[in-house]
Amino acid sequence: MAIDFTPSEEQRLLVESARRFLEQEIYPHEAEVDRAGEVPEDLGRRIRERAIALGLYAANMPDSVGGGGLDPVGLALLDRELGKAGWALRGYVGRPSAILMACADEQRERYLRACVRGERHECFALTEPGAGSDVMAITTRAVRDGTDYVLNGTKHFISGVGVPDFAIVFAVTGMEETPKGPRKRISAFLVDRGTAGFEMRRGPRCVSYRAYNNFELSFADCRVAAGQMLGGEGRGFDLANEWLADTRLLVATTCCGRAERVLDMAVDWAATRRQFGRTIGRFQGVGFKLADMATELRAADMLTLNAAWKLGQGTLTAADAAMAKLYASEMLGRVTDHAVQIFGGMGLMEEAPIERFWRDARVERIWDGTSEIQRHIIARELLRPRES
Ligand SMILES: Cc1cc2nc3c(=O)[nH]c(=O)nc-3n(C[C@H](O)[C@H](O)[C@H](O)COP(=O)(O)OP(=O)(O)OC[C@H]3O[C@@H](n4cnc5c(N)ncnc54)[C@H](O)[C@@H]3O)c2cc1C
Repeated sequence: MAIDFTPSEEQRLLVESARRFLEQEIYPHEAEVDRAGEVPEDLGRRIRERAIALGLYAANMPDSVGGGGLDPVGLALLDRELGKAGWALRGYVGRPSAILMACADEQRERYLRACVRGERHECFALTEPGAGSDVMAITTRAVRDGTDYVLNGTKHFISGVGVPDFAIVFAVTGMEETPKGPRKRISAFLVDRGTAGFEMRRGPRCVSYRAYNNFELSFADCRVAAGQMLGGEGRGFDLANEWLADTRLLVATTCCGRAERVLDMAVDWAATRRQFGRTIGRFQGVGFKLADMATELRAADMLTLNAAWKLGQGTLTAADAAMAKLYASEMLGRVTDHAVQIFGGMGLMEEAPIERFWRDARVERIWDGTSEIQRHIIARELLRPRES
């Protein structure tokens, strides 16, 4: 089947609108916010209000719940454009966790719809100090007690815009027998900030997306009603897996957007900076770098859009999403590193934005599953059909 990724008129207008929005509302504040390591409250509020007014907010959510209702390719094109901005400010252009679609009827208004309207904000709390790549190693427990569950445990590296209003918390609720042996039953809970026994503290400062907050969450005999469970007992891990493709494509599109911005700056610099009587882009050592950057970006774009297209067709595999995330994030690492080299000493100075892109790029190979974990997923899909 022929695949044509030429944007429709509607997609083109949306991307254009996002571009103008970034130029007016976000780019002018990026350097200062990164230097300060904080987003002023009124700036965050203004970005959110403008994003809502322009129809950019919650674009990933279906229109049945008030979201943008974009198809996966349309969403990928928008996410790619918005991805040109760093998460500290872009985070205010809400993109609620799609896992909230699993909300039961009585949870929808307070958690799902409030997030889609931009009134409340969630964080996604899976990772723990002892459980990163190995998510099944989580030890946060939720024990049934009458009509409640009692949570105990610690989460870390949990991203949030401003201070999240509630957390989607993954906890062990029991054990089950499987053909491969005993396995933890993991369930997800919606836990409001302010619930007794739930504490949220700022975590260590990350050098990537410096003003994007990360939190440590602790639960000490934290009691939540059984009705706060998301998606049914023991369904937490399956739920997280169901939406994983969405987050991996989000990383991939973000990396493509950021690489385009860096490439553009590097081309400008190489075409104007003079040494030995000519512009440095004329030296093969520099020009070939630019050529590789552009080629790799094109390849990452095609891989990512193809994965988004397959998602829309219902044929996306875990390996397709993993390949897009792996290649695009590794590509961004190489592109930002080449850009620093092309800028020379200026590439490492805070006065030029290149070092920020280089720092920011580093986390893309780590969060939402490291590059090594993506390779495991791809290798597993290759090997499994032929293994006895
Ligand atoms: C800024 C930031 C924000 C984050 N936000 C969130 C969030 O909002 N919510 C959330 O739940 N989590 C979040 N995370 C956590 C993130 O998903 C984890 O950091 C990531 O999954 C890796 O886990 P880890 O850091 O514990 O590394 P580890 O799992 O300890 O891995 C360390 C190294 O060992 C390698 N490794 C591990 N296992 C294998 C293996 N089987 N084969 C080969 N290599 C292996 C890894 O690839 C890595 O290189 C965030 C992390 C960061 C840095």
